[in-house]
Amino acid sequence: MNYEEVITRIHQELKSYWGKGKVADYIPALAEVEPQQYGIAIETLDRQSFQVGEAKVRFSIQSISKVFTLSMVTRHLGDRIWKSVGREPSGNPFNSLVQLEYERGIPRNPFINAGALVVTDRLMSLYAHPKDAILNFVRTICGNDDIYYDKHIAQSEKANADRNMALGYLMKSFGNMENDIESVLDVYCHQCAISMSCVDLSRAFLFLANRGLNPFNQEQILSVSQAKRLGALMLTCGFYDESGDFAFRAGVPGKSGVGGGVAAYIPGSLAITVWSPELNRHGNSLIGMETLERFTTDIRNSIF
Ligand code: GLU
Repeated sequence: MNYEEVITRIHQELKSYWGKGKVADYIPALAEVEPQQYGIAIETLDRQSFQVGEAKVRFSIQSISKVFTLSMVTRHLGDRIWKSVGREPSGNPFNSLVQLEYERGIPRNPFINAGALVVTDRLMSLYAHPKDAILNFVRTICGNDDIYYDKHIAQSEKANADRNMALGYLMKSFGNMENDIESVLDVYCHQCAISMSCVDLSRAFLFLANRGLNPFNQEQILSVSQAKRLGALMLTCGFYDESGDFAFRAGVPGKSGVGGGVAAYIPGSLAITVWSPELNRHGNSLIGMETLERFTTDIRNSIF
């Protein structure tokens, strides 16, 4: 399949969408990003790479990091993590406090902020140096040692973390946090502030397309069953309260972040990442969502 031709055409067509969305500004450092950027990178399991536009420009991965921390925790805790976090779509904005109150501190799923905070909290209980452990994990799965935290974004995020802090304390009051909330927020803000390119992210998602096996070093990162479950969670919960619509339109598991990235994959075949910073009203990359829909439609392949 000539993916090059497909993504070049989509890229050309969707540039006209620039200006229709809005760059995230609730974290001031994210608002500094030049909005009119658009990259696509595909990595296939048979070792082909296709890129167009700003595919090698690094951006803030934000919530896409939730896939990495959940992978790390699932590896160690297995099913035990599901005692503290649910597996249902929330139907609410990613940082909502309301549901958490009436569901007694158990977040709906690991991809809304509350759920991701629980995952990061458990990761901190597992690793003496969690920030180093996260970077090492990400570097290993994408095969690039040159991956770092963007300190400027991490600081900006920490300075504007009141709502996430509130989620942390609310869960602590229900006994669902093991570590000090300020420390959890520090690690969480750093994981969100990892800078990666579309190429890096597609490579990092290849182990999921490969049913848990890292294609670069043949390490089984997740069992086949754990990889299946992670994919199912991404399909049902990976796009905030637009997850159903993304599944409907693109038909593949994926995860978005408010930095404008969308990473997705087709099991047994490929991983694809799109980055375009302007977001739609649900906080997902407007061009990213449209790109994935057109891509799976044009190549006539998805999980369905
Ligand atoms: N760091 C962001 C927050 O917690 C992540 C949001 C996102 O990408 O969904 O608000």
